[in-house]
Amino acid sequence: MSWSMTKQFPCYACKVRDVAEIMEVLTIARMYGLSVIAHGAGHSYTDAALNTDGVIIDVTNMRRILSWNPEQGIMQVEPGVTLRDLVRVAMPDGWWPPVTPSTADVTIGGCVAMNVHGKNAWKNGSFGEHLLSLTVLLANGQMLTLSPISHPELFHAFVGSAGLLGIIISVTLQLQRIPSEHVNVRVQPAASLSEILRILHEEQCADYLEAWVDAFASGRSLGRGIVTSTAFCDERNDTGLRLPTPHIPEHFQEGLTRYIGTTCRPFLKSGARIANQGMYWWSKWRGSEHIGHQSLFRSLFYPPAIFTGYRALLPQGTETFQVFVPFSQAEPLFHEILHRSQDHHFIPLWCVIKQHSQDPFLLSYQVDGFSLEVNYQVVPQTVQQLRTMLLKLMDLVIAVGGRFYLAKDSLLTDILYRRSVGDTAVETFLHLKQMYDPEMLFQSDLFRRVFQISLQ
Ligand SMILES: Cc1cc2nc3c(=O)[nH]c(=O)nc-3n(C[C@H](O)[C@H](O)[C@H](O)COP(=O)(O)OP(=O)(O)OC[C@H]3O[C@@H](n4cnc5c(N)ncnc54)[C@H](O)[C@@H]3O)c2cc1C
Repeated sequence: MSWSMTKQFPCYACKVRDVAEIMEVLTIARMYGLSVIAHGAGHSYTDAALNTDGVIIDVTNMRRILSWNPEQGIMQVEPGVTLRDLVRVAMPDGWWPPVTPSTADVTIGGCVAMNVHGKNAWKNGSFGEHLLSLTVLLANGQMLTLSPISHPELFHAFVGSAGLLGIIISVTLQLQRIPSEHVNVRVQPAASLSEILRILHEEQCADYLEAWVDAFASGRSLGRGIVTSTAFCDERNDTGLRLPTPHIPEHFQEGLTRYIGTTCRPFLKSGARIANQGMYWWSKWRGSEHIGHQSLFRSLFYPPAIFTGYRALLPQGTETFQVFVPFSQAEPLFHEILHRSQDHHFIPLWCVIKQHSQDPFLLSYQVDGFSLEVNYQVVPQTVQQLRTMLLKLMDLVIAVGGRFYLAKDSLLTDILYRRSVGDTAVETFLHLKQMYDPEMLFQSDLFRRVFQISLQ
């Protein structure tokens, strides 16, 4: 077990290898009156895994695959196993995680704790819907194995509770059988938001769907974009499925993307405008087209080098705003978000639309509808005005029954959160927290921002 002190959000960080070490940290934290929170790969965009003045328990060394049944596609893993680790073992046997976010380097513990979704959210739901069971360590030191059948209430509250009810020690999940390591990708240009939503509705037989929106386009072109539908290739491969090997060595890719990011930084806004326009017109010129075999892995996950380039290009980061809105309200609301952003001169650098379906978890953020994710450049001089605009937009989202995702939203307050998910969900969660963690041992910056004021 190793301890260190972090600088930006001062707290004790402790890297553990097993349950005994977690228990030791909990005892020490209690002795000093400190709160604790579990930490995976740290890929949440928000303060979910931060605990200023407390302790974070880094579980990334708990990285063993505990069992694998290649006949049934059932895997049991420790919480620090990443999606990349999981895929490395399961893919040669023809299995794949049924739900994945856009990066393979998140931990399974993090995926359960935030109940992540992927580009197939309308079809496969959220990560939690594919769990057979979870073993968790509660604040009183008790280990409990939860399944949707054995402990329905606690299981549905634990998934998506951002580590606030306890620490996930192991996860048993059902993987999805896949026919191929390749997919067919179809790209269709759409002249408006309504066309994007219409195409998404029509492409229900795809396996993955996502739309990119050109937020620079205005007037009659407002909301134009490109819809990408991806479907598994129907090919038989008797030699086992394989992960793609990188064309360029990873360290070289990183150097290259860092160089490109730094060089392009002064031209970010004009470059983004040109890139958005160029992508749209390129797809229009090529028309709706099948692009042959593409690697499934590459079509779903960003390469890690992209993040190096991203940090070089945007040293202050981005403000991400993702809203989940019922079908009937999506078009006018997305239109308003894009329109208002342009009016206030905060044009998102990139925007993505996905389709979703409601799931059964207590703190669920998914609704039967669409989500729009917009990403703005952070400029210190104007970030406050940007946040003021987004807070006003949040009111509109809540008014139409929309929700927000705790892994990506850093603006939610306790009042806004209650209004979006409802008093009953928050009260039930806080009641369970009181029952299973009466001393409030598990806390994070997100907990204090979104839940704690409700307790006072
Ligand atoms: C490039 C990028 C793309 C992304 N795309 C998507 C996407 O498409 N869809 C999507 O849903 N999300 C997406 N995300 C968000 C990401 O998938 C989630 O935030 C995920 O939870 C991150 O996992 P992590 O291992 O980094 O967890 P962390 O960020 O370290 O932690 C997240 C939360 O999980 C809790 N936690 C972690 N481990 C445990 C444990 N063992 N026990 C209890 N609690 C635990 C932490 O306390 C914290 O509250 C993306 C993130 C990035 C950086």
